Amino acid sequence: MAASVVPPSPVRDDAFFWEGVTRSQLLLRRCAQCERLHHPPSPMCPHCGSVEWRTEAASGEGTVHSWIVSAHPTEPDDSPRIVVLVDLAEGVRFVANLAGIAPADVTVGLAVRVTFETVGGVLLPQFRPVEVAE
Ligand SMILES: [Zn+2]
Repeated sequence: MAASVVPPSPVRDDAFFWEGVTRSQLLLRRCAQCERLHHPPSPMCPHCGSVEWRTEAASGEGTVHSWIVSAHPTEPDDSPRIVVLVDLAEGVRFVANLAGIAPADVTVGLAVRVTFETVGGVLLPQFRPVEVAE
């Protein structure tokens, strides 16, 4: 069964993020008061409660913190998806799909990098392993 993707439906708190994706940027929010990065977006800074923030583009570099293999609950799945929790170089964690690697080869600490790919007609940030020979 082919993967189906539910398109993002941006709300006020994360519209900036999806706007960044259209420019191949992974945007994070930095609190204007305590200067800490936070993700996922929320109305207030989770550290100090401020509602003032600005965005900055993440490097897109990170390492695998944890992952699961997502399979369709009832139907045969021709392409199981790897859903990964990435420790971004900036110090926040990010959930996305991991592509370009077999589930058995994923390891904690694996170096990954964001790419922007159209999946099921939807442009999404995805991660791929960083090629050692690069
Ligand atoms: Zn803050």
